[in-house]
Amino acid sequence: GGVRAGPAPAPAKRLKVAVVGGGLVGALEAVFLARRGHLVDLYEYRDDVRRTPHLNRGRTINLTLSHRGRAALRAAGLEAAVMARGLPVRGRLVHARDGTRARSLYHPDGQQCIYSVNRKNLNELLLTAAEELPNVRLHFNHKLVSADLDSGRLTFQTPLCPEGVSHSAALVVGADGAHSRVRAAMLRRPGFDFRQSNIEHAYLELRIPPNPDGSSALEPVDFLHVWPRGSFMLMALPNGDASWTVTLFAPDERLRRLCAEPVLAVRLFQTHLDDALHLIGAPALERDFAAGRPSLLLGVKCNPYHVEGKAIIIGDAAHAMVPFYGQGMNAGFEDCLLLDRLMNHYGDDLQSALAEFSLVRNPDAEAICDLAMYNYTEMRELVAKKSYHFRKKLDGM
Ligand code: FAD
Repeated sequence: GGVRAGPAPAPAKRLKVAVVGGGLVGALEAVFLARRGHLVDLYEYRDDVRRTPHLNRGRTINLTLSHRGRAALRAAGLEAAVMARGLPVRGRLVHARDGTRARSLYHPDGQQCIYSVNRKNLNELLLTAAEELPNVRLHFNHKLVSADLDSGRLTFQTPLCPEGVSHSAALVVGADGAHSRVRAAMLRRPGFDFRQSNIEHAYLELRIPPNPDGSSALEPVDFLHVWPRGSFMLMALPNGDASWTVTLFAPDERLRRLCAEPVLAVRLFQTHLDDALHLIGAPALERDFAAGRPSLLLGVKCNPYHVEGKAIIIGDAAHAMVPFYGQGMNAGFEDCLLLDRLMNHYGDDLQSALAEFSLVRNPDAEAICDLAMYNYTEMRELVAKKSYHFRKKLDGM
């Protein structure tokens, strides 16, 4: 508890709003909408993340928060609370095959940086901030199974009602992620454009534990560490407990084979990622591969994001992207901020606010999706390039 959103904007006409999805973007959007005075029901498929010990559903443990995401959190009065737990990441450190390391700062003076934040903590903080507003109700274990966006009638499966329970809302906000059901309800509407791209690579998360004395085993701690190896790539982001979350990106088939035969994974690391293997430890690596299941990566583009003044999709539901630009959550948070500004501008004219959102947001969202896809090749192939990073910035650390 204890996280309070800042002062609310001028109240408009009170609407009954359903936010579908209580992930990062849905929880923040619930805060924004409630601060406008609307009656917000948030429906989340999973159990309350604050009551579950792990966030272990193939979701990343930590992610990077950038300027765009922070601006949205600031407008909701939540930036300070989030930043209090964020770890600065000032640049990228590339580990070459021969063991040499090359650093590049994100900003010349190292002052402007991104922050590594824990997904579970952030989701918890946002849900608590929403819950503390008197006009928000959180409904967990509610899985949207069908939506009639013309009437605002939503049907959810719950443990008590597997046959489905219906609720209605004047405005439906779909923040239900890359496989959005709200978006699925838009698919059959005339003029709705939808494209999904699946990439060959999947990912698996591993961990570098802290040293026995509690210090970090990998230095420097304020860098994103990358081991580009052509067809695969390893990335490490710091956690608050001095451990590192390490993500291996590799072709899905190959990852599955390694999970089926973890000893092959150890061999792969010995050959290509020996320094990382020392930090993770061979027994832990084998264990993680044996217990792991690779997660697939996909990109989604669609247009428009709204249905009249009745429904809107935001976050991954509207523009899922491959994670190589570290901007998916940030773009989703920015959606919340833009929508809030448009609601300020158009007041009770929701139809115009939502139409404008689709119009201005779509080209920007698709540009970030494209940049993320571009970085997919760029990052893996850093190794193949005799790039300026290696020539200029080799500092032999
Ligand atoms: P989600 O986080 O997917 O949340 C959707 C929620 O809706 C979930 O809680 C889900 O349970 C719920 N839901 C789904 N279906 C239903 C239903 N039918 N009914 C009710 N509820 C439902 N972004 C960054 O900005 N920085 C990073 O560093 C970064 N790193 C990443 C690394 C990886 C490996 C990956 C895969 C992604 C990364 N991202 C990053 C992207 C980021 O994770 C997403 O953009 C972000 O989680 C999107 O939030 P969301 O709330 O829109 O969707």
